Amino acid sequence: MQDGKINLRDLLPEELSAALAELGQPAFRAGQVFDWLSRGAESFDGMTNLPKALRAALAERYYLGTPRVLKKQVSAGDGTIKYLWGLRDGNAVETVVMRYHYGNSVCISTQVGCRQGCAFCASTIGGLVRSLEPGEMLEEVMFSEKESGLKIGHIVLMGIGEPLDNFDNVIKFLRLVNHPKGMNIGMRHISLSTCGLTEKFDKLAELNLQLTLSVSLHAPDDETRTRIMPANRGRGVERLMDSCEAYFKKTGRRISFEYAMIDGVNDSPEQAALLARHAARVGAHVNLIPLNHVDESPLRPTPPERIAAFKKALEREGVNVTVRRRLGGDIDASCGQLRKKTADALRAGTERE
Ligand code: SAH
Repeated sequence: MQDGKINLRDLLPEELSAALAELGQPAFRAGQVFDWLSRGAESFDGMTNLPKALRAALAERYYLGTPRVLKKQVSAGDGTIKYLWGLRDGNAVETVVMRYHYGNSVCISTQVGCRQGCAFCASTIGGLVRSLEPGEMLEEVMFSEKESGLKIGHIVLMGIGEPLDNFDNVIKFLRLVNHPKGMNIGMRHISLSTCGLTEKFDKLAELNLQLTLSVSLHAPDDETRTRIMPANRGRGVERLMDSCEAYFKKTGRRISFEYAMIDGVNDSPEQAALLARHAARVGAHVNLIPLNHVDESPLRPTPPERIAAFKKALEREGVNVTVRRRLGGDIDASCGQLRKKTADALRAGTERE
């Protein structure tokens, strides 16, 4: 909430109905307003089938969160689009639209910055600024679709931030974007990626949402994992695997492990063997990702031939494994980099002044 006003896009249809009833409106008004919201209306004045007095009453209590494009980059190679959105309070987040043979997918941020401190990740360098509200995450999807003209069918929560560190807002966003009267994107078309905040897994499993849970594993042993992912400290790989197994049993949904291949850090044959054991135990699919270079980090990607060998080693153990295709390599499409570079450039600008 800002200026004492509420973002109308934070409201589920049933909440909107209650809010309009409180304003003395007949029941059909909620449908009309939700219809405008679904079409990405940017002002109450544009809601032309509402009485003027109602438009004024809404504008007094609510606002329509509408992010502004601060930067847009389009990959010359594969058409991947990356947006840097300016939010109402002056913060900025990144959203990436990727084009696949099965349709268009959007990768959204869930927080401004991140407090998880992963050694290879650009999003965490300045720490956490704040969590995003449900409506702001919805706006990333809605306005990426509107601005690009590309129909969005899939969502991955793999942008800036840790979704399970913003649990309630993320769940409400999922309900908003999944709502049949809204964007109506199916839970099976949504992936949520986490660095492994195991204390939240049961709560998520309880909701039985049928989304895909991706676990950013990146190392199969505690020594390495704690070194590159501070979130492993106090939790540990064993507990993470217990939580994954429980999640799979409860929801019946196969988990996937994200594994960024880092030269000389997590790519040994012993680590392949241990990773295979974990994947077999929890029935996980493994997604190998060549590490994206981040300027501030000394870590380097594993060379392609050793990624291939690592993949073979996993396959020999019967693990279901893919190597993720890199999209948007020419536009800093791995998240966090655009926001960071823009902040750096702005800072350099002010320092020069
Ligand atoms: N906090 C969540 C989601 C955001 S990160 C999580 O940790 O899963 C999205 C994915 O990108 C994660 O798997 C993350 O580990 C990975 N990632 C971050 N920086 C990367 C880099 N430089 N190269 C490859 N993958 C990276």
